[in-house]
Amino acid sequence: LKNFPFAKVLVLGLAKSGTAVANLLNRNGVEVVANDLKATEDDENVQTLRSQGVSVVVGEHPLSLIEDVDAIIKNPGIPYENVLIDSAVKQDIPVLTEIELIPYFGINQIVGITGSNGKTTTTTLIYEMFKKADAPVSLAGNIGHVASEVAEQMDDKQTMIAELSSFQLLGIDTFKPKVAVLLNLFEAHLDYHHTLEHYQNAKANIFKNQTEHDYLVYNADDQRIVNLIKDADAIRVPFSRKGGITNGTYCDEEAIYFRGEKVIDLASVVLVGEHNLENILAAISVAKLEGISNQVIETVLTTFTGVTHRLQFVKEVNGRKFYNDSKATNILATTKALSAFNQSIILLAGGLDRGNDFDELIPYMSNVKALVLFGETSPKLRKVGEASGIENIELVDTMNEAVQKAYQLSNKEDVVLLSPACASWDQYKTFEERGNMFMESVHKL
Ligand code: ADP
Repeated sequence: LKNFPFAKVLVLGLAKSGTAVANLLNRNGVEVVANDLKATEDDENVQTLRSQGVSVVVGEHPLSLIEDVDAIIKNPGIPYENVLIDSAVKQDIPVLTEIELIPYFGINQIVGITGSNGKTTTTTLIYEMFKKADAPVSLAGNIGHVASEVAEQMDDKQTMIAELSSFQLLGIDTFKPKVAVLLNLFEAHLDYHHTLEHYQNAKANIFKNQTEHDYLVYNADDQRIVNLIKDADAIRVPFSRKGGITNGTYCDEEAIYFRGEKVIDLASVVLVGEHNLENILAAISVAKLEGISNQVIETVLTTFTGVTHRLQFVKEVNGRKFYNDSKATNILATTKALSAFNQSIILLAGGLDRGNDFDELIPYMSNVKALVLFGETSPKLRKVGEASGIENIELVDTMNEAVQKAYQLSNKEDVVLLSPACASWDQYKTFEERGNMFMESVHKL
């Protein structure tokens, strides 16, 4: 930690990243006080931190905690209405998130990816392209690696590929990616950010410190993004699925191009779905800016089957293609998955009943030739299937049965798709467990 301006820091929130940050600051010679409302004296991380000399306060947020601290590093999920944050803001004490620590480790080669959707997919694609090109690289951020911890381990030749949420971006002051990627802006997280404007401003933080030597890769098809970046100083690199640009990354029916040069035939890309095409265009933009070859890009895109449980290609069995989209825990996600295929689909769906009817699925059912249903919502989904004119509808109890049944109902060239449109908790611990059971059953066929 070099030239870090704060001698004493309050770390607020002791989940995974907070505990890591308290430790990190402590071992880098910063005086740390850690505070968490929900943690208890018995928690292992609380005891470990104390044994290392960190003072920890649990179960309350006493205002005395901010009396002599120079800054607060808060968990991104803690709202600004929190009493401590509120009075810190009034007293001009900087309120930061842990990604603000990254520059103090001398890490400047950063590709930062944000957006309402597609962050993990795009981040993973970019990381895979760097790896395949043998470029020194580290993966960080929302994707499961605490970014400041990753930064501490990196050498300055490496590039950090960081998935960044709007919550993290709200708490930066000097953090700046060399390449920023803005994927899209939907009306998400308004419970936390209250207004769309506030949410957009948080996302805009990704380029606020960029200069004319940095790059801003953005989705030219998203009008909110186009408006948002009007005052950005960085070199703009647009991508578009719909056409109308030539100075960035774009596609036609046949291929993807970067500034007039063909990069890859669309037919060789394994990922499906229009939304994934946007993620691919974004990833290619970054790869081309970083000098990664078309051959490397092609190798990655012809082998990358998708992030696990997100419209992930699992296997082809006797001409039937199996896809795992267990992450589709709501209706919108399933409509996207259904739109991704031209083939006939056998759809596996159902799960926790949250009181929805599923009528919004009907317009997307035209390619669905059979439904295999499970869980609490199966009677409702059966009605939707009948209303869509689907003749083959089966109700089953287990995932294994569902996969067997789907296989029996399928022909060569068909797609068998798990995209449940429901949460998994009626039958499974998590959507990951549900997806894993699907994949296991497919591999047993
Ligand atoms: P995030 O990390 O932002 O949550 P993921 O890459 O994990 O995004 O994708 C989660 C879900 O979001 C996908 O299953 C898909 O339904 C949807 N999605 C992914 N990429 C996009 C995109 N570019 N535009 C719209 N929706 C997308």
